[in-house]
Amino acid sequence: MRNFIAIISLTISTVFAQNRFPKPDFESGYQYPTENYAAPAEDIHSWVNLAIMVLLMSVVTWAVHKKRVRTPVIAVSLVSVLWFGFIGGGCICSVGAVQNVALALTDSGYTIPLVVFLFFLLPIIFTLIFGRVFCSGVCPLGALQELVNVKNYRLSRAITTLLGIIPWFYLAFAVLFAITESGFLICRFDPFAGIFRLGGDVVLITIGVILLLISIFVGRPFCRFLCPYGALLSLFSRVSFFQIKITGKECINCDLCRNACPVDAILPPNENCVKESRMAGIRRIILYSTILPAMIAGGALAMHSIAGSLAKSNKTVAMNKIIAAGDTESVDAVAFYGRTGEARQLQEAADEKIAQFRFYSLFAGGFLGFVVALTLISLSLKRSRTHYQINHADCVACGRCFGYCPQNKKRG
Ligand code: SF4
Ligand code: SF4
Repeated sequence: MRNFIAIISLTISTVFAQNRFPKPDFESGYQYPTENYAAPAEDIHSWVNLAIMVLLMSVVTWAVHKKRVRTPVIAVSLVSVLWFGFIGGGCICSVGAVQNVALALTDSGYTIPLVVFLFFLLPIIFTLIFGRVFCSGVCPLGALQELVNVKNYRLSRAITTLLGIIPWFYLAFAVLFAITESGFLICRFDPFAGIFRLGGDVVLITIGVILLLISIFVGRPFCRFLCPYGALLSLFSRVSFFQIKITGKECINCDLCRNACPVDAILPPNENCVKESRMAGIRRIILYSTILPAMIAGGALAMHSIAGSLAKSNKTVAMNKIIAAGDTESVDAVAFYGRTGEARQLQEAADEKIAQFRFYSLFAGGFLGFVVALTLISLSLKRSRTHYQINHADCVACGRCFGYCPQNKKRG
């Protein structure tokens, strides 16, 4: 509770503390710096952070797999919020590194520092082996929400499943914007960065504070309904080699663990599901095999149709629009003519960006169509379970369920 009060006071004071000074107002003649997508520096500090991240993930792994206790997870969360969050300012972060990796994969001229790549890769490897031990308390964004959570109001399965599509959209758009060099959306719209840095964009800080206030009553809203990296990790966690178990003994179906889980990752027994006839099963498979390609094609076409509008957010395309309109007086136009002044080159570069947007939008849209189709299909599926089971894609390895299970207590 003390953690919670301290964090909320800090975040609220952050909203009022920022933007005390107006932005610099450059006189005409100022030359804009050339935009680049330099990755964070590969300095000793980054390597130390990487070592700390691995150490914290190892502690969580030991706590949730070997000892089956939550206290070390809380300790790790506090360290993470303090070190990676308030001291490190939330950068380098594994969540944002997705964009560096996507850009490096598509642009041979962009080199991603090894340390940034490892920030992206190591949580995935840990997740593939042990489940989402990174999300547990090592990620400062998840840890902050974890520390303020005091109550878990459960949302309906339909709502959580539908809201769960949002991180995939965020991921697709973040990758699309990264590989077209139109911006790193995940970093630009990080709602907790301003809180950690005690200043920044007032709208984003307000969103961060609202998310934290929601986190008090609904477990980890950002992790479940926004985080693109969490969506990626959920894929690996689903098939992880060592999966977290609620109890080391026989489940007695008491429902206590499900009430404790902040992310609704515990599925109740479901023995009464109606058995489907063979014909109904065949009809269902035919329906799914029609829906899936149709949704993929529909998603690809939908995204392709808005690619031109999306491209307008690219700085080259936006600048070309200004120059093509004959503007020579605005600050942007003055900066452009002061820098290169080659309108034809600018037009070619803008056309190339728009073509990139059109091309990659097809993949992003197809991917989103696939995700939406799978989500709809999953809503219609009911699996039979005799005991409470963890949905490992959603489980963030927080360890709360251990303490609530009476069978675990017996064991201790
Ligand atoms: S879901 Fe995202 S924000 Fe939440 S803990 Fe995992 S990586 Fe961090
Ligand atoms: S360890 Fe997983 S299943 Fe257990 S309470 Fe935490 S998120 Fe839920």
